[in-house]
Amino acid sequence: MPLRQSRQPDDAYVVEIGFHDLGVTKADLEIRLGYEAGRAPEPFGGMIDEVLAEAPGRLGIQAGYRLVPLSRPADKRDGLLIGGPFFRTGTIVAGEFARADEAAVFACTIGPSLETWASDLTGDGEPALGFVVDSAASEFAERTAAVLHDGVAAFMRERGRGVTNRYSPGYCTWDVGEQRTLFSLLPDGFCGIRLTESALMVPVKSVSGIIGTGKSVERRDYRCDRCGVEECVWRAVRTKKKSETTDKRG
Ligand code: SF4
Repeated sequence: MPLRQSRQPDDAYVVEIGFHDLGVTKADLEIRLGYEAGRAPEPFGGMIDEVLAEAPGRLGIQAGYRLVPLSRPADKRDGLLIGGPFFRTGTIVAGEFARADEAAVFACTIGPSLETWASDLTGDGEPALGFVVDSAASEFAERTAAVLHDGVAAFMRERGRGVTNRYSPGYCTWDVGEQRTLFSLLPDGFCGIRLTESALMVPVKSVSGIIGTGKSVERRDYRCDRCGVEECVWRAVRTKKKSETTDKRG
C-alpha cells in the first residue's frame, strides 16, 4: 500500500506510517539479537513473541520531512549548503549528494513507550526481557526510517526525481554536533522530537537526517567496501543490512 502524506506549511510533509508498514517479523528480531532466523532459544523466542504482540499498541510512530534547497560549494568540498546553513558533512556524504539540488530533511520516531517499558522491566528485575524490548525498539525505529525513505523516494518519483541514500549526523564522519542545526530546518516540535542540551533526540528511538533529491540522482548502496575510514562502528551494521537485503531480494 502506498504511504499517505499531508502537506504542512513551508514545504514540510507528515507521512503516515503504521506498525504493519514496518514489516518487522520474528526472524528480524531473532537476527537482531544475534540468532539465526527461527533459532532463538527459549526464553528469548517467547519474549520476542510478547514484544511483537504488544508493539502495535505501544508504538507512537511519527514521521515526516521538509524539502529545502541543497548545493555543494565549489570552494568547500567537505560539506553542503542545506536550506541555508553550511554543514560540514565530510566528503563521503558531500560526494554522494553531488547531483542533488534539494534535500529532504527528515525525522521520525516510534515514541517513548517502548523505551519506558524496557527501562521499567530492567528496574523490576527482568533485564533480559528489557533488553529484548530495547533491541526491538531499535529495529522498529530503523525500519521506520527505511519506510519513510522509501516513501520519500515514491513521492519524488511522481515528480520525476530520484533520491540518494540517507545520512544522519554522527555517520560517515558527519559531526553529530550538527544535529541542532539540522533540527533548526524543521518546524518546532516536528514529530514530537526535542533535543537535549547535548543535542541527543528525545524520544531516544528516533532517527533524523537528510536524503538528497534531483532529476539525475540515483540511489546507491552505502560504499563501506570502498571507504577508508578505519574502525567505523557502522561498517558492520551497514554491510550486514546490505547482505540481508540482497538475501531478501533473492
Ligand atoms: S565504513 Fe561505511 S558507514 Fe563507516 S564511514 Fe565509511 S561509508 Fe560511512
